[in-house]
Amino acid sequence: MSEVDVAIIGAGAAGLAAAAALRGAGRRTLILEAAAQPGGRARTTRPAALGGAWLDEGAAWIHMAETNPVVPMAEARRVPLKKAFRNASLMFVQGRAATATEHAEYDAASARWEAIVMAAPAVPDRALAAAIGPFRHENPWAPTIEAWEASLIQSVDAPYLSLADFRLNQLDGTNLMPPEGFGQLLLDLLLDSAGPIRVNCPATRIDWSGPHLRIDTPEGVVTAAQVIVTVSTGVLQAGGLRFTPSLPPQTAQAIDDLPMGLLSKIVARAAGADRLGMTATTHLFRRRESLSAPFLSTIAWPRGTDHVIAFVGGDAAWAVAEDPRAADSLFRAEWRAMLGSEADRIFAPGGFTTDWATDPHHLGAYSYARPGAARARALLSEPVGEGRLLFAGEACRTDGTAGTVGGAVSDGRRAAAIILGQEGTGHL
Ligand SMILES: Cc1cc2nc3c(=O)[nH]c(=O)nc-3n(C[C@H](O)[C@H](O)[C@H](O)COP(=O)(O)OP(=O)(O)OC[C@H]3O[C@@H](n4cnc5c(N)ncnc54)[C@H](O)[C@@H]3O)c2cc1C
Repeated sequence: MSEVDVAIIGAGAAGLAAAAALRGAGRRTLILEAAAQPGGRARTTRPAALGGAWLDEGAAWIHMAETNPVVPMAEARRVPLKKAFRNASLMFVQGRAATATEHAEYDAASARWEAIVMAAPAVPDRALAAAIGPFRHENPWAPTIEAWEASLIQSVDAPYLSLADFRLNQLDGTNLMPPEGFGQLLLDLLLDSAGPIRVNCPATRIDWSGPHLRIDTPEGVVTAAQVIVTVSTGVLQAGGLRFTPSLPPQTAQAIDDLPMGLLSKIVARAAGADRLGMTATTHLFRRRESLSAPFLSTIAWPRGTDHVIAFVGGDAAWAVAEDPRAADSLFRAEWRAMLGSEADRIFAPGGFTTDWATDPHHLGAYSYARPGAARARALLSEPVGEGRLLFAGEACRTDGTAGTVGGAVSDGRRAAAIILGQEGTGHL
């Protein structure tokens, strides 16, 4: 049996940041991680299918760089962060490049969409789609804007998303990119100071009935005075980690009210040396002609590599996750719809789609609040059992950084600060 001051469940951004803060204050910590490697949803890989080029399968952009806690850490290590930029952005309408007039219409519709959403009454909370109202159906650009704002950025379609949660988590500000991937950067910044991590060691049950908490793992029981749980709400909803006694109704309800959205990256090797006449890091998308049509946003040849990455989110992403072959067809159909049969000649075998939906350690991309559940994040962040059991991670953020690595880092630190007695419970 291992005994520590604080056990941390999950070695993602929140868990690593919490451990680093606690160890800095002299606490004995142990991180239990179900996967074979730390990093969680910030995962940089070098898939053989991409010939060794690195890929961020999860988080890629350092959002809201002005206030993101990752930025000062990277600067202290002199890691050069670059502005996320695109050489060109191409919008297509019905198989051809959009005209200047159409671009202007799209911009005007985006401004109108935002004005409607921001002016909608906040109380009672309701679905983002309901707040958009008739504009959803009347404006030809509304389905595209909604796909961007909800399905891709929030990873959930507008009918299922709380208006208040959407308005809070806007991700405004500068996006930066690390030189070798966000997953790699996170490990470079936090692994040294996070202390012992037991990988391939899932926590299966936490008994918080007594003064010391007991955590069941395949490698035996770990006891701790306090526990920080950072696993995704998808894992918690699926019962991937059980609690004895059951969690208080308020916490259980908060978990239920924060399901996981899905954002998938469809990655394809694109061999055409002439890149169909496009420069590296070109961004392509096609006007979405109806609210039920899938929407893909593609970055072609990022950093001059020979692959393209299409992003698909919300219901369309869940559909693709159920049938991996569908991803390939969807992607090829999308390219044909934009560029005609020319597109076919650039694809080489070896594509794949990220699997956050079925990965049992995550079961989705990041959390969203259901309509009417605007307080769920605050409720989840409330300590349980006189502060012996804490939840932390992207789902707990109430400061507009939910769903991000920066938010998860801040939240790991928040939980550590509560344990160290530096902060009240805060949010309610
Ligand atoms: C496709 C995609 C794109 C994204 N893009 C961005 C982006 O560009 N910028 C950005 O800031 N954010 C982005 N995000 C979101 C970001 O990755 C997450 O918000 C953040 O990494 C969450 O960190 P966390 O510590 O809260 O949770 P996690 O990273 O999920 O950490 C929890 C850890 O718990 C482990 N675990 C699960 N069950 C158990 C168990 N029973 N016992 C022990 N361990 C367990 C998991 O393996 C995981 O390592 C993206 C996410 C995805 C999926």
